[in-house]
Amino acid sequence: MEYDVVIGLEIHAELKTKTKVFCSCKNEFGAKPNANTCPVCTGMPGALPIINRHAVELCIKAGLCFGCSISEYAVMERKNYFYPDLAKAYQISQMVHPICIGGGIELKSGKLMRLNRIHLEEDAGKLTHISRAVGTLVDYNRGGTPLIEIVTEPDFSTAEEVDEFLKRVRESLIYAGIADCKMEEGGMRCDVNLSLKPKGSQVLGTRTEMKNLNSFKSVTRAIEYEIKRQEEILDEGGKIIQETRKWDDAKGKNLSMRTKEQAQDYRYFPDPDILPISISKSDVERIKEEMPMLPEDRRKRYVEEFGLPEYDAAILTSSKYVSDYFEKCVKIFDSPKKISNWIMVDLLKLVKEQEDFVFPISEEDLCEIIKMVEEKIINKTVGLQLLDAVIKTGKKPSVLAKEMNLIVTISEKQILLLLQKLKSENAKVSEDYAKEPQKVVGFIVGYVMKNTAGKANAELVKSLIQKVF
Ligand SMILES: [Zn+2]
Repeated sequence: MEYDVVIGLEIHAELKTKTKVFCSCKNEFGAKPNANTCPVCTGMPGALPIINRHAVELCIKAGLCFGCSISEYAVMERKNYFYPDLAKAYQISQMVHPICIGGGIELKSGKLMRLNRIHLEEDAGKLTHISRAVGTLVDYNRGGTPLIEIVTEPDFSTAEEVDEFLKRVRESLIYAGIADCKMEEGGMRCDVNLSLKPKGSQVLGTRTEMKNLNSFKSVTRAIEYEIKRQEEILDEGGKIIQETRKWDDAKGKNLSMRTKEQAQDYRYFPDPDILPISISKSDVERIKEEMPMLPEDRRKRYVEEFGLPEYDAAILTSSKYVSDYFEKCVKIFDSPKKISNWIMVDLLKLVKEQEDFVFPISEEDLCEIIKMVEEKIINKTVGLQLLDAVIKTGKKPSVLAKEMNLIVTISEKQILLLLQKLKSENAKVSEDYAKEPQKVVGFIVGYVMKNTAGKANAELVKSLIQKVF
């Protein structure tokens, strides 16, 4: 039988705040276990939470990235359940009045993937299972750190669509400074809800949920595995059980974890210790103004305004750092394609496979080198030697070029000036050139060489003679 695949996502991203969301403990990865804790985030009786304004603003920012409408009134609610990594026995989250509603991302195919909402909540602590004899250790450092949860509509039908969507989400969150999305540190996790229905049917099938997938690859593999698993059950006339299944990336398969609880099991209710959040239009406007241009918009601009090929635009925007670097260069030296070539071919290879890299040369110095090459003061090979020398010594390109005696040619402009001078001072040369050009070319080249101490490029001089005489 043929089936339609229906997939919805819940994406958690850790917000880039200095402190936790309901107390003033530090929000940092890798601290000593339980170093960043206090009575609030360890759920001591009587401890009262505050709310981190920055976390609320970052959630609004995320909404603005994806075209959500921002609520004027939002409420934090308690989601009640017991788990050892959740000291309060409830998680503060949002149910009825989330901060962001609606929105969506258009995929390359033109298909719109709608968002249901983005809400703010707190993360739980971390359990480490040692052994049966030692038991399990708990670290509450992560407890109470701020998360956004992005909930989509069930609009996806393939693993490829999910992959493209997740990459776009991650890219936008990083660009806008909302989250680092370091997947290997659990900074971005994805839950996948998946069901099958007979092709063309309007009735949704029973869905399963796979939780906390933390790499693009495992999301794709988990989806492909689950589609196949459900297909086989349905083909044999079996029934899908609504449950949470745990993906085992090493084994390449998933296993039943628990049957799915319903929202009513959590007994959501407004947190009586936290006042409702009121978000004014002027706050939203201010946050909008602070937003940087997002990658998709930058790509469009690079193609339309700078005339770059799509290929260049995609590579340059693959990280915000590279994109910002490129744009700063274009401001210094308005030659986007030349700059793009230098960055793509010569700079990116220097930082190959490094994670948070920084180019080893400033935008100003790179532009100075590119300019020298473009004005034919030096050729590209010499330009690369100069690049290397600037990186090694940290000296200015112009200073190094002189020190290293790299300037072997004189600029096109200087040659043109000399040729024009000769033309205006020596009418006979022009006359002779008009009659028999070959006879005077040698003389003219010699004149230029004499006046540039032999540092002009003879071929260039010859081509410029034709322009001037
Ligand atoms: Zn705390």
